[in-house]
Amino acid sequence: MSRHVIEWDRAAHVESQFPSDGRPQVAFAGRSNVGKSSLLNCLFAQRLAGVSRTPGKTRSINFYRVDDRFYLVDLPGYGYAQRSKSDRARFSALIGRFLEHNRALCGVAHLVDIRHAPSELDVRISRYLRELPPAVLTVLTKADKLSRGAGASQRQLVARGLEVEPSALLPFSVVDGRGQRELWSWILDLMGKAKPHE
Ligand code: GDP
Repeated sequence: MSRHVIEWDRAAHVESQFPSDGRPQVAFAGRSNVGKSSLLNCLFAQRLAGVSRTPGKTRSINFYRVDDRFYLVDLPGYGYAQRSKSDRARFSALIGRFLEHNRALCGVAHLVDIRHAPSELDVRISRYLRELPPAVLTVLTKADKLSRGAGASQRQLVARGLEVEPSALLPFSVVDGRGQRELWSWILDLMGKAKPHE
């Protein structure tokens, strides 16, 4: 069980709904179906309210309060083709505002499926995130789906695709629990350094 008290806080559909209390934040980004809701459920050791099972259906930025001290933020999955163009444009604008004009945001975990070479969109988003002030951790989801050897070579391949060091990628699995401790450490480390922004 997670020893943290995690509470559903809010779903933001427009910028005015973002928290303004200055508590620091860590966000989770990734394409639809990458395993983001599974990772969050696993990280929190509980089913989360407001997380949809249908790919691409989560149409808001979802905030969870941890120990009343900081927020973990679930960003809508990207790359879901069935969304309308105007819907996608509205979301990119909202997510852009969240990522670029948010002094409380200390880190972004970017989730990429370990089994596939990063898509063009993954590469673009990875570059974009790394140009912003928050720390970025790339998490390789579904690591249990590959054997040790295949996992190691996919890690190299994804690292090359995203132009990062293989050691900067964190393999994660909700099935065997790998990466969970390291991910929590990364989050808590960032939160320990964070200063509240008013
Ligand atoms: P989301 O759209 O990014 O929130 O993705 P989901 O969390 O709904 O996961 C998409 C699919 O991948 C589901 O069928 C999950 O059961 C599966 N999945 C997610 N994480 C893992 C994992 O670590 N290992 C395995 N084997 N399957 C996973």
